[in-house]
Amino acid sequence: MSHYDLHCPYCETDIDDPDDCYAPETTYEHQCPACEKHFVFTVDYIRDYSAAKAECLNGAPHDYKETTTFPRQYTRLRCSMCDDHKPISDARRAELKAQDEAQCAALTKPNHPSEPTEG
Ligand SMILES: [Zn+2]
Ligand SMILES: [Zn+2]
Repeated sequence: MSHYDLHCPYCETDIDDPDDCYAPETTYEHQCPACEKHFVFTVDYIRDYSAAKAECLNGAPHDYKETTTFPRQYTRLRCSMCDDHKPISDARRAELKAQDEAQCAALTKPNHPSEPTEG
């Protein structure tokens, strides 16, 4: 019995090695033949698997989180479970762009203000 076996994270059934899933650091979607639930797994160099539940592939909403991209206006939304991603809303992008500009203005401000400080 090999310890490289892939198991369904829902029902623990042994899954046959999916032949075309070799690339490391890639999230693959797979459907369990036993319980018919969808889940995701990744493969590392020794062809081990780490399977994680992906509720969003079984009818639940995606768990979108904002990426920490700079400049902030290029932030995207990525699902923490299945790695699906989508653009942020225009309103949010405008908000982040304003933050970028504020930060940029702060960085370019001279270190020594020309106005005398009190005291
Ligand atoms: Zn299963
Ligand atoms: Zn998802």
